[in-house]
Amino acid sequence: MTDVSIVSCNSYDEEEVRTALENVLLPIGGLDWVTPGMKIAIKANLVSMMKPELAATTHPALLCALVKMLRERDAEPIIGDSPGGLYNAAVVNRIYHVTGMKQAEAAGALLNQDFGNCEANFPEAMVAHQFTYTAYLDKVDAIIDFCKLKTHGMMGMSAAVKNMFGVVPGTFKPEYHFRYPDHRDFAKMLMDLNTYFAPKVKLCLVDAIVGMEGNGPTQGTPRHLGALLASRSPHPLDLVCAKLIGLTPKDIPTLEVAMENGWIPESVEQLKISGDLNRFCVRDFQNIHVRRSLQFEGHGKFASMFVRSALRAEPRPDKKLCVSCKKCAEICPAHVITMKNGIPEIDKTRCITCFCCQEFCPVGAMKVHRPLIARILNHKK
Ligand code: SF4
Ligand code: SF4
Repeated sequence: MTDVSIVSCNSYDEEEVRTALENVLLPIGGLDWVTPGMKIAIKANLVSMMKPELAATTHPALLCALVKMLRERDAEPIIGDSPGGLYNAAVVNRIYHVTGMKQAEAAGALLNQDFGNCEANFPEAMVAHQFTYTAYLDKVDAIIDFCKLKTHGMMGMSAAVKNMFGVVPGTFKPEYHFRYPDHRDFAKMLMDLNTYFAPKVKLCLVDAIVGMEGNGPTQGTPRHLGALLASRSPHPLDLVCAKLIGLTPKDIPTLEVAMENGWIPESVEQLKISGDLNRFCVRDFQNIHVRRSLQFEGHGKFASMFVRSALRAEPRPDKKLCVSCKKCAEICPAHVITMKNGIPEIDKTRCITCFCCQEFCPVGAMKVHRPLIARILNHKK
């Protein structure tokens, strides 16, 4: 059985996208699991009110093609996501409009209008034994996780596993950052969400036709990768995505934990991949190496603590770009940002490096800053 399928797709042209989608699904059994009348949630990445060409969100052309294929099988696709901030009709409908979801609606999808919440009890979880999630997911028979491949300030990469953070209503997200300030714990929480919904998640897809590099997941630069990927499971899919953009599991806490749990093999070469992965790998993809700088095992506890703190990546505002909107201060879950003369000032001693401020700065003025020594050491590795 194929673990991950990858095909070429060089544009968001309707015909090319449809062909690529059909081809990428073939090696993993197509859509044979879809039955007439099935309600299927497509959990897209609609992180922010951003146009498709900015490459922060799942492209509507792909969603349109998928919706049509599901409709042809008499299924009922419903597109949903909960971005950061308020989770209500006014905000989310504006996001649907700007991200091109109205095209998917015209293709036959429902756009989720249920903005209620549910509580999950999950005793088997690694860390998230209780959590709140978006209620519409309870009313569907299956879920398709359709993400965008991007860099991510906190997790290194945003792909299939990270996309499921969108099941947490936006207003609760800061609380989760605060509850799991350690990056590995946050990764475990993300994986708990994936495990909880795994029985319903029948398919994971990655829009890597144009991904995002640099200051992702919202203010980076679109980067052509020309690939569409699919899998039945988010973990091997993320392992392949990491390879595609030149990262290793040590760079990405979710992959590191997945490997420790035995959910993925030690190397991508041990996966059964349909398609020529090497052909799609981008050697000069601009990543945010927040994670690799923390790998200093075997140097003693205090040395390790010192090194970790000295090499820690942290948010830093670019004064020239900052427009003094205060959004970073409002969204900071640890409440450690104060505005001084129109510029955010961060109390580094209390910052939990969640990078929400970087993710939600509307002009990309908040950057992930890595100390020079960390950059030199990373370069040498
Ligand atoms: S969100 Fe960005 S632009 Fe707004 S105050 Fe913070 S750093 Fe400046
Ligand atoms: S300053 Fe930024 S990175 Fe630090 S806790 Fe606040 S939002 Fe998170």
